[in-house]
Amino acid sequence: MTTRPTIIVVRGDITDQHADVLVNAANSSLLGGGGVDGAIHRRGGPEILAACRDLRASHYGKGLRTGQAVATTAGRLHAEHVVHTVGPVWSGTEDRSALLASCYRESLRVSSELGARTVVFPAISTGIYGWPLGDGARIAVCTVREAALPPITEVRFVVFDEEAYACFDDALTA
Ligand code: ADP
Repeated sequence: MTTRPTIIVVRGDITDQHADVLVNAANSSLLGGGGVDGAIHRRGGPEILAACRDLRASHYGKGLRTGQAVATTAGRLHAEHVVHTVGPVWSGTEDRSALLASCYRESLRVSSELGARTVVFPAISTGIYGWPLGDGARIAVCTVREAALPPITEVRFVVFDEEAYACFDDALTA
C-alpha cells in the first residue's frame, strides 16, 4: 500500500524554501521573467539560466509548451532541482483548466522521476498570467491529490499573501 503524500500550504517566498524540488512558474522562453521566475533566477544564480539555455539549444528551440515541465539544477537555492513549468494565461472565454492541471501533473511526474520526496509549488498562473486565485488553488489541490507519485511524501504550496493562503486552505479542507 502506498501512503498518500502530505499536502500543505505555507506563506512565504518560494526562494527561501528547502526541498528536493522547487517548481518555477516559468514562461515558454525558459529565459526568465517576472514574479516567481525572476525571484528563482535571482536567488538561484546564473547556473540555472545556463541550464535553461542548454535545454533551449538541445530540445526546446521553439520554447517549452504550456502545461509541460522540465528540470534543471537549482543553483544556489536550497533544493536539488528546479522544475520549470509554463502555466496558461487566464482566459475569460476559453477553458484552459486542463493546461493548468497539466502543469501540476507534469511537474510531479518529472519530480518523481528525479527521485524527489519533497516538492514545493507556487500558485501557478495566478500572478502575471491572471488566473483567479480561488479557481487556481482548487485546480492545484485537486490535481496534486490525484497525481502525486512515489517517492514524493510532501507537496508544499508556498504563497505570498493572506488571500492566496485562504484560497489554498479552503481548497485543502474542501
Ligand atoms: P504566472 O506568470 O504563472 O502568473 P507569477 O510568478 O506572476 O506567475 O505568480 C504566480 C503566483 O506566485 C502569484 O500568486 C504571485 O503572487 C506569487 N509569487 C510571486 N513571487 C513569489 C515568490 N517569490 N514566492 C512565492 N510566491 C510568489
